[in-house]
Amino acid sequence: MCNSCKKPIALLLCALTMLMPLCACSQDTPETAEPMSSTGFLLDTVVVITLYNGQSRETLQGAFELCQQYENLLSKTIEGSDVWNINHAGGQPVEVSSDTAEIIRSALHYSEITAGAFDITVGPISSLWNFKSENPSVPAQADIDRLLPYVDYTGVSLEGNTVTLRDANMQIDLGGIAKGFIADKLAQYLKKNRVTSAIINLGGNTYALGAKEGGSDWSVGVQDPFGRVQTPIAAVYVQNKSVVTSGIYERYFELDGVLYHHILDPSTGYPVRNDLTSVTILSDKSIDGDALSTSCYVLGLEKGMELIESLDGIEAIFIDTDKNFYITDGIGDDGIPFQTVS
Ligand code: ADP
Ligand code: MG
Repeated sequence: MCNSCKKPIALLLCALTMLMPLCACSQDTPETAEPMSSTGFLLDTVVVITLYNGQSRETLQGAFELCQQYENLLSKTIEGSDVWNINHAGGQPVEVSSDTAEIIRSALHYSEITAGAFDITVGPISSLWNFKSENPSVPAQADIDRLLPYVDYTGVSLEGNTVTLRDANMQIDLGGIAKGFIADKLAQYLKKNRVTSAIINLGGNTYALGAKEGGSDWSVGVQDPFGRVQTPIAAVYVQNKSVVTSGIYERYFELDGVLYHHILDPSTGYPVRNDLTSVTILSDKSIDGDALSTSCYVLGLEKGMELIESLDGIEAIFIDTDKNFYITDGIGDDGIPFQTVS
């Protein structure tokens, strides 16, 4: 790894005078319309969309309808979704929408450049762990051993909009990339509806559209992996950027003092074990940020940092279990403004 590329920051050294809200709420001048916001539970997460200009109930409602349409297309559990159809085709070719094909194409690209650390064919194993259930438990080793051979992205073939899995036991799970794709589509939709200033938050997968009133940057909070929900540990100041975090605090359970979380190592079938608590990616497109935040978590600090430094226009913040920050060269100093919150 290029050591000069990473800048460890001891959190305690970075005093901050004010706490950044997760999504900056604009203090509008009196003649400016109030921001319009709506919250819903979709895509297995809390979705909050806030419009700061071009406010309209119809536009906001349309955004949530779009989320629902994508959930119906991309969910692993909704019968008849593209993903459900692929997973239940017994290895036969399945014609999917161009959106689904685009996500799978991008996912395969990330599998290639991460040597399989990012792998949407974790499906059988993620179903086995079932972090979304009320009482998740550690699966039997025999079950992991039985299903692990079906985790292999090279078994996904994509030609045009036709997807074929090499084996009837394979399953795809787009949980590590779909929200990023949807955030990009929501941003496009809002722009088409004359909204040029908005925050799209899909459970921590944030897209900051345009600028705040007056042209200043949004402050987007980086969730404190050790703190309560919606408590930022740092903030970045951006415009037209996606800020996506993958962390072990998102979905997990604890058993006998061990924390089991939902980011899986495709080579073992177990939650990834390393010293990271979260990885945040800043990028123009949220699909890249989503895939890369999951990828970098799996790759770990050194390989993850190396990957990000090799990619143009992508920046990252890694936080480890000792609350050390590691940020890429494009953040801080003359790059994207960044502050920690003590
Ligand atoms: P979140 O869903 O909290 O935004 P991530 O983007 O990191 O978090 O995605 C984690 C989800 O991605 C898991 O719930 C699972 O559906 C899927 N997943 C788990 N491990 C991997 C992996 N190694 N590669 C690709 N997808 C994964
Ligand atoms: Mg992800």
